[in-house]
Amino acid sequence: MADDLEGGCACGAVRYRLTAAPMFVHCCHCLDCQRQTGSAFVLNALIETGHIELLQGAPRPVGVPTDSGRPHDIYRCPECQTALWSDYGGRPLLRFVRIGTLDSPSALKPDVHIYTRSKLAWVGLLDDVPAFEVFYDREALWPAASRERLRKAVGG
Ligand SMILES: [Zn+2]
Ligand SMILES: [Zn+2]
Repeated sequence: MADDLEGGCACGAVRYRLTAAPMFVHCCHCLDCQRQTGSAFVLNALIETGHIELLQGAPRPVGVPTDSGRPHDIYRCPECQTALWSDYGGRPLLRFVRIGTLDSPSALKPDVHIYTRSKLAWVGLLDDVPAFEVFYDREALWPAASRERLRKAVGG
């Protein structure tokens, strides 16, 4: 599976491999994600920073404003500026990896759709993935093993 979880930026300066499956995968339809990606939604694989092995290059953080005032750094290739992952909330041990930068983006699928209140009307969702107008209850949705991994990564 790890073979499927290699990726990189558009110019090839940054290459990475995920050394574990993500804890959970978000498809976020919020207005911030739409603006930051210039698209309809963002696909974020939540994973421990330690499970991102850099094979080549090093993305650089670029801060973006947030409604909440909590920090959000988008890590981009210093050459071509492709967004590879995010640090939401200044949590150095947790990353939100953009699935579209994988060599095989089909290797991972959303576990949940969030902020569907601003989902574009022409985006149709299948019934087999839970969807929420805003956010969701992690205790109810995440597998126990993933909750344990998150606790180890960020505490609480
Ligand atoms: Zn690049
Ligand atoms: Zn969002």
